[in-house]
Parts: sequence; structure tokens; C-alpha cells
Amino acid sequence: MKIFSCDTCRHPVFFENVQCLNCGSTLAFLPDQLNVAALQAAPSPQDASPSAPLWQRASAPEPRRTYRMCLNHDLYQACNFAVPAEDPNPLCISCRQTRVLPDLSLQANQHRWYLIEIAKRRLFYTLARLGLANTENRAQGEQGPVFAFLAEQPGGPPVMTGHQDGLITLNVAEADDDERARRRVLLREPYRTLLGHLRHESGHYYWNQLIRDAGRLAAFRQIFGDESVDYGQALQQYYASGPSGDDWQTAHVSSYATAHPWEDWAETWAHYLHMVDLLETAAAFHANLVVPGTAPMPREGVSNPFDTPETDFTQLVQQWVPVTLMLNSLNRSLGQNDAYPFALSAGALHKLRFVHDVIHDSTTRPSVDDANDTP
Ligand SMILES: [Zn+2]
Ligand SMILES: [Zn+2]
Ligand SMILES: [Zn+2]
Repeated sequence: MKIFSCDTCRHPVFFENVQCLNCGSTLAFLPDQLNVAALQAAPSPQDASPSAPLWQRASAPEPRRTYRMCLNHDLYQACNFAVPAEDPNPLCISCRQTRVLPDLSLQANQHRWYLIEIAKRRLFYTLARLGLANTENRAQGEQGPVFAFLAEQPGGPPVMTGHQDGLITLNVAEADDDERARRRVLLREPYRTLLGHLRHESGHYYWNQLIRDAGRLAAFRQIFGDESVDYGQALQQYYASGPSGDDWQTAHVSSYATAHPWEDWAETWAHYLHMVDLLETAAAFHANLVVPGTAPMPREGVSNPFDTPETDFTQLVQQWVPVTLMLNSLNRSLGQNDAYPFALSAGALHKLRFVHDVIHDSTTRPSVDDANDTP
């Protein structure tokens, strides 16, 4: 993700911020501009409801677009996305995709939901940057997956995280650090995050759109194998005995990717989203790394993957390796585990290139407001 800055004082601000810690300006993320903006109160029309204050971007030229804050901001401080004032939906473009919530009268669920929505807004940002999510008014069900965040009930059935027919279900227990770590260890996974879950499940959604419904099944099968093999049986076998053979890394981004071609795709898809997000962040900092023994980077440093020409997956990978080396080294300096506990083989890269090509062939990128980018 890029680095945002306050319109008023230019101080760097994060994607999740609702206020500039340096100058106190009210902030919101404007999905139509894919940018964080400092807001000022807008003049209210006569018939406006007094409960929904209107805002405009302080630094925008006239005529200024008018926004409300997302209802989940006003009710729960759980969202920092703005909604264009003319949009009749009280929820922002991200929150409106959530269809089922756990019991929010329980404080613990409110906090879990808050954390999950943060990850979901980050998913929205990357999908929008890739041209996969509409950044303007989105009518119900018009585009993109919808979400159900469910809590297990005592004595009730387990809540399985997964995707079916456009609905992504997430067990809200994944928002608890202890429970997520327990599952990570139990399943022998090196990496498990809320954002990773949502990116993975979005991969299943976009497989339907970009592979099954887009005439790419034959090309998919050549690389990922035959997805028509029994899915339930394949997963059962994976959970019973793990990946078949020790050489899974030669062709898969993770051991779970060996479970079934659909999971292979979803794991690879999530990994591709990790790559472009991290590289965009590195590019926003004008990162220029010298890693001993590897080819030097171009003088201008890491390039923004969203500006990378469609064919230039190779360049993306060349920049990825030194960035992740530095990332892991920094983490180890602080006594943390590797943030990026993966090593990409030629076979895994071949699959990542396929994801890259499918996305580039399927989309046109949105224009992004870079007015307040900071170095
Ligand atoms: Zn400021
Ligand atoms: Zn919202
Ligand atoms: Zn999956």
C-alpha cells in the first residue's frame, strides 16, 4: 500500500487513521479517490438529516465532492471510509459487502469485527488498485464477494472459513491472536493472518470470475492441474496426512496449496496480493536496496507494481527478493519471526506469473489521485 499524508500538514498518516496525530485534522479514506484525505465540514442542504454531518476534502478544488462518514464509523468507530453524499447506502463501499455479523452486543465480538473490517478494507484497496473492485457506488451484489463473519456457539456446529457462490465466511475467532496462533501451530503453517485469510478467500471468488467464467479453464489446468478431482476428499486427505512428498516447494507457494488445484490457485492469488501490496509500500518509501551478491537495483529503487508494464513480472520478482530479505532481517533485528516465511521456487513463480497475467488481461487500472503522495 502507498504511504498517505495529511492534506493539511503533510505528515505521514496511515490507511486506518481517522485523525492526523500531528495537526488534529479529521481524516477519512475516500474510496473513489483511493486516498486518505483531511476533511472539513461541508455546508448542509436544508433537507439533510442532522444526524449525518457532511464533509468535503479540505484541499480539493471547487466544486468539491461531498461525503458522509460510513454508518459503522458513526455507530461503532469501526470504519474510516467516507461515502459520497449522493449514495443512498449509509454504509461505505467496503462495509456494505458484509452481510452477516456476530452478536455485536458482546464486546469481544465488536473488537473481532473491527479487526476483520480493517483487514477487509485493505483487501478492498488492493483489489481496487488491481482494477478488480469498483471504486464508485456499488449496488448490492453488483460486484465483488460478500462476507459473513460468524462466531461459533457452544454446542453448535463449527464455523468453517471458506468461500461459496460469492459468499466468503470467516470464523471471527481468527481475530483472536491466541486462537489464530494455536491454529497456525496445529496446522503447521508459517504464516496466518486475517488479511491472508481474506486474500486467500477472494482468490476462490475471482477464480470463478476470471478462470471458470472467462474461458481460461484449459490454461489453468495446464499449470495448476485438474480441479475436477473430488474437493472434499482432497481436503480430508491433506488434513489427515499433509502434503504428499517433501518436494512441494518446487511447485507450490505453501504446503496447503498442494491440497487441491483450487487451493493452489487461492494460495498463489493471496501471495500475489501480498507481493504487489508490499512492493507498493517499498516504492512509496523510494526503497533502494543493495543486497550483497545480487544484481543492483535500478537507480530509482523499487518501482510501483501497479505502474509495472503488463509483461514485466520478471522485474517485479527481481525487486521482491531483496525487499523480503531486508524485511526478514529487520524483523530478526527486533527479535521477531520472519514476516515473510516463504521461499519461491521456479514452479511457484510460474504460477504467480499466471495470476499476474490473468489479472492484467482482465482489468483496466483505475486512475489514482496521487496529489498528496509523500516520499
Ligand atoms: Zn495533519
Ligand atoms: Zn465502512
Ligand atoms: Zn481455500
